[in-house]
Amino acid sequence: MNYKQQLAVVQGLSIQSDTQTRMDCPFCNGRNTFSVDTTDNKLGWYCFHASCSAKGKKKEKKICNMYKEFFMAIKTYT
Ligand SMILES: [Zn+2]
Repeated sequence: MNYKQQLAVVQGLSIQSDTQTRMDCPFCNGRNTFSVDTTDNKLGWYCFHASCSAKGKKKEKKICNMYKEFFMAIKTYT
């Protein structure tokens, strides 16, 4: 399973943002071997099962940073 397929599966889990959690792996069905991290607006996932290669990370979109800086700038001026 390639990165894009893994990403689609992990996004399909509908993990809430700002969460670090362990769960059963949707790829190898290992019990509680799957770690998902959605803190700092990223999406990271990793499976601790030795024979499972599920692992990946999706960074926040750059456009989000741009908006953040934009709103920070507004705050500074008002
Ligand atoms: Zn796994």
